[in-house]
Amino acid sequence: MNAISFRIEHQCPQCGAPIVLDEETRFFACEFCRVKSCISQTGFARYMFARSFPAMSHPDAPDDSDLVFLPYWRFKGMYYTCTRQKVSHRFLDISALALEGSFPNLPVSLGFRSQALSLKQVTPHTRGHFFQPADAPAILAQVQSRSMNMKQPGHAGFSEQIGETLSLIYSPFYTKGNRLVDAILNQPIRTFASTHIRLDNLPGCRPEKQTVFLPGICPDCGWDLEGANDSLILICKNCSTLWKPKDRQLARIRFKCTRPKSDTDVMVPFWKIKAGISGLSLSSMADLARLANLPRAVRPEWENQELFFWATAFKIRPRIFLSLASRITLGQPAPDLDREIPGNRHVPVTLPADEAVQSIRITLAGLARPLTDVLPALVDLKITPVQAMLVFLAFEDQFHDYVHPGLKAGINKKALALASNL
Ligand SMILES: [Zn+2]
Ligand SMILES: [Zn+2]
Repeated sequence: MNAISFRIEHQCPQCGAPIVLDEETRFFACEFCRVKSCISQTGFARYMFARSFPAMSHPDAPDDSDLVFLPYWRFKGMYYTCTRQKVSHRFLDISALALEGSFPNLPVSLGFRSQALSLKQVTPHTRGHFFQPADAPAILAQVQSRSMNMKQPGHAGFSEQIGETLSLIYSPFYTKGNRLVDAILNQPIRTFASTHIRLDNLPGCRPEKQTVFLPGICPDCGWDLEGANDSLILICKNCSTLWKPKDRQLARIRFKCTRPKSDTDVMVPFWKIKAGISGLSLSSMADLARLANLPRAVRPEWENQELFFWATAFKIRPRIFLSLASRITLGQPAPDLDREIPGNRHVPVTLPADEAVQSIRITLAGLARPLTDVLPALVDLKITPVQAMLVFLAFEDQFHDYVHPGLKAGINKKALALASNL
């Protein structure tokens, strides 16, 4: 796995100090004024590579206003494919030139640039010409067609991206004679006489969209919110509420918790999803048992037992993600739940509900026995989410793993610690 995490330059909303955060960061304390803030990100993030001082001082380097910024889509996440034989997965971290049409002379991806330089936000004061990005799905389809890593399963299967981050990254160039020059390295790319004309015909845009910072305090009681750097949802342990940055405010999130047996239990978040399924008869626990071909006989009461889909509300390696989703969906836990947040440690919520909904089809593929019988129905499956509820289940803290004995489910601690960069 070769995960890259960009470093992004920001300014503390409280004291104005420059701060550099990982791209996954959603909650942080400023190291200068100690004030906690949440980052509200609506839609995809938009960043740019900025020129260093030496790059700007190069004799060929033009003024900022003469820079042209080429757009690149960047996808990072888990790519699952389901074929007749099996469900497989791989980690994906790719970038692709986001221009419509063919531009053989332009760099097709950001290459290794991303690891070396930090990114900046595009602000209304950023000068230069920005090109409008082509639709992300169209660009991703092009990448899929040329990348072995993203080989399509063909019409007898399907693929799904889960937990992906999509961002738009601009890289600066300038023209010198009939050459396009990389403005970071001051190195010509290639001659591009014909490309030049076609580039001139492409629509430009102003991509700035300011990141919104929100104070990291509970809107209800003023208590400090708690969370990890990459938490999408923050906890107020004072008034037992959960909050999610949304647009320019913190929105309350509905949740339920099981009661832990011990102070050392760890509260693990899951999405419990009610969804309409069309294309497959799947509305009760009995239907699920038949799909999975469970060795036990289908119990009569299962015919009326409402079915919920479960998925982790945190990012984790695909193998563990799928095994937890299958195990807990098959277990259909219905413990006593309450709305009190216990003082126990909570695993941060890092996977949003809509990504969890997207995982249902691949979870079903993992459960179906034999897969070949169900695959055509899965390919055409329509999933309509009705409700997603955040549920914290108490797991025992054992030596290497967090364990739920009732569901026979375990989460490796090391894998969980490494998951923040997925
Ligand atoms: Zn500060
Ligand atoms: Zn509160």
